[in-house]
Amino acid sequence: SKVPPIILNNGVEMPQLGFGVWQVPDDEAETAVATALEAGYRSIDTAAIYGNEEGVGKAVAASGIPRQDLFVTTKLWNSDHGYDATLRAFDTSLEKLGLEYVDLYLIHWPLPSRGLFVETYKAFEKIYADGRAKAIGVSNFLPEHLRTLLAATSVIPAVNQIEMHPHLQQHGARDFHAEQGIATEAWSPLGQGRGLLEVPAIVAIAQKHNRTPAQVVLRWHLQLGNIVIPKSVTPSRIRENIEVFDFSLDTEDMAAISALNEDRRLGPDPATFDMA
Ligand code: NAD
Repeated sequence: SKVPPIILNNGVEMPQLGFGVWQVPDDEAETAVATALEAGYRSIDTAAIYGNEEGVGKAVAASGIPRQDLFVTTKLWNSDHGYDATLRAFDTSLEKLGLEYVDLYLIHWPLPSRGLFVETYKAFEKIYADGRAKAIGVSNFLPEHLRTLLAATSVIPAVNQIEMHPHLQQHGARDFHAEQGIATEAWSPLGQGRGLLEVPAIVAIAQKHNRTPAQVVLRWHLQLGNIVIPKSVTPSRIRENIEVFDFSLDTEDMAAISALNEDRRLGPDPATFDMA
């Protein structure tokens, strides 16, 4: 494969770059995922709330790629926190995907005000023990939520998928993950394409390497050790976003991008977000 793996804390290999499908309607997901698989992506990031697990599953089935060569992530939605609800929601996701197991199952949001993420994660541990998820982890957990989880459960999350891009560099979270052996996966790695890709410093680095701003930003993440899951439904961009393993940024480029941090979120604050 053209994408090198990250070795997760349980030994499972996860491609460092995958394809995100948030906001891709179910009937377009099959085509978008098929395009991505053809371009060489082997990791797909979906979620129950995205409403496109069936489309993703159809593309996976139609691809003819051996199951063991694919890495499928899905996520438990907020309305399904709690032990029994989680087991039921997981069954539904597997059925929609048409799979016997997922590679990674994530708690989508911590919902600290509801206080159910420990119980929810205990159901994840059961799913993991049964071999129906090859790895389990979380998304949008702040270090304080991870501390609570680590104190009350036994399987250290393999991954925390958090918002991260040059305008939100997550230094505290990344340091904490590194200490605990949790891989950092960046969502909205391109800052949702909103403005970030026109920032002069990024455009200048792109010109210097004869690459696109999106490729430069993805390269920055990869060189920091992040897992990335850029999204596009445009075939040329889907292909462009995976052509990032044949060049590298130098120390100066990395520093120039790291200087762009504004600690500015595009998405909700995990401490208060509780949409059901
Ligand atoms: P992203 O940062 O991947 O940006 C995607 C947008 O950037 C596209 O819609 C397009 O407008 C633009 N774009 C993509 N490739 C481009 C290119 N080569 N050139 C120019 N513009 C380009 O944003 P995202 O979709 O929010 O995040 C990626 C994935 O992360 C999602 O699809 C989803 O799988 C995941 N995600 C997870 C959470 C979570 O709570 N866990 C939240 C948001 C997203």
